[in-house]
Formats: sequence, structure tokens, C-alpha cells
Amino acid sequence: MQLDVKKTIEWLQLANTKIQEKKDYLTSLDQPIGDGDHGINMARGFKEVEAKISGKDYKDISELLKDVAMTLMAKVGGASGPLFGTAFLKLSTSIKGEATIDAKQFASALDAAVTGLKQRGKAEEGEKTMIDMWAPITKLFQQEEGITADKVVDTAKMALEKTKEMKATKGRAAYFKEKSVGHQDPGAASSYYIFEALAEIWKGDSKA
Ligand code: ADP
Ligand code: MG
Repeated sequence: MQLDVKKTIEWLQLANTKIQEKKDYLTSLDQPIGDGDHGINMARGFKEVEAKISGKDYKDISELLKDVAMTLMAKVGGASGPLFGTAFLKLSTSIKGEATIDAKQFASALDAAVTGLKQRGKAEEGEKTMIDMWAPITKLFQQEEGITADKVVDTAKMALEKTKEMKATKGRAAYFKEKSVGHQDPGAASSYYIFEALAEIWKGDSKA
């Protein structure tokens, strides 16, 4: 995998397309174990991201991801806005000055993002949050070799399915206690589309 500014913009544009398409689905996930606004929040935030980054000249990926982080922080709202903002800000700061990044650099950027999410959310893995998507994807990228776009999608699918069995202990879903079991976590689902978009951009690039 090679990400440069152009590919990163394509990744986030595709993530936006998917989130707009899945807006109602994401909201439906947030109805039984939340307040039913996650799709609305994410669709609003990613629409702004797309508007902000499309056609703008960036000197490096870090600068671009910082714009993404700030936009998500300001526009998504809810509990998830500052969390997605933190994740993208950590991605941005850990690849400062790099024109292109490979899977290994992306792995350490993801590791920083997960650390940031855990700090900001005061949450760990297994609490039925977006961390249960970001952490397994990070572990996959940390494997030295053999990681492919298909594996990213497979890992993300499994991780999303696993959130169903978990009982929420953080965020609004925690109020539902045992009743939160049996539902996918909305933030893990929106994160799924972000990583699925990355995998599709990666696959479409013969050099990657
Ligand atoms: P709100 O819960 O304020 O309505 P959203 O509906 O946009 O915000 O987002 C809910 C998602 O945010 C959850 O599905 C979960 O993935 C994530 N989330 C909530 N609280 C936390 C937390 N403390 N740590 C990590 N992620 C969290
Ligand atoms: Mg909500």
C-alpha cells in the first residue's frame, strides 16, 4: 500500500460516498442502543470533509489529515465527533513531513490513533465502541507482511460482527446494559466504511 496526497483524498471521498449511502443504516444502528443520530452526524461531518479537501493543494498527507480531523471535530458532533477528530489528528501528527506512506508507516499512525481514542474515550477494547474496529485493523497492519486489501475488509467485517456480542460499557449505549448485546456498534460500523473505502482505493491502485 502506498498513500500519497492524491490517494488519501480519493480514500476520504470514497469514505464520504459510503457514509452518505449508509446514513440511514448507521442511524438505524444508533436507534436501539443510542439516540438515533449517528448516521446524521457522520453524513454531515464527511460531507464537510469532502467539501474542505476536494481540489485543495496539500503539501503533504499530514496537512490533509489535519484538515480532516479539524472538520470532523467541528462538524460531526455527538460523542463520536471529537473521537474521530482525535483519531485523524493522531494519524496526521505521526506522519508529519511524509509525502508518501507505506503500510508500515500507516501501522504506526494507526497505533497512535488507537492510543488517542482510548485516552479520549477513556475506553478499552471490548467495550463496544469504534475502538473495536480501529484496534483490530491496527493489529492487522502491524503484521510485518502479507497484508492485503482483502484482508483489511475481512478483518473489518469480523470486527464489526464481534461488536454484536459485546455489552456496551461506554457512551450512550452503556445505558442499555445487557440490552446492548445483539446489535452492531454504530461507531464501529461507520469506521468499517472508512476502512472498506481505504481497501478499495488500495485495490484499485496497481502499484500498491
Ligand atoms: P452520541 O453517542 O453522542 O449520540 P454518536 O451517535 O455520533 O454520538 O456516536 C456513537 C458512537 O460513538 C458509538 O457507537 C461508539 O462507537 C462511539 N463512542 C461513544 N462513546 C465512546 C467512548 N467513550 N469511547 C470510544 N467510542 C465511543
Ligand atoms: Mg448517537
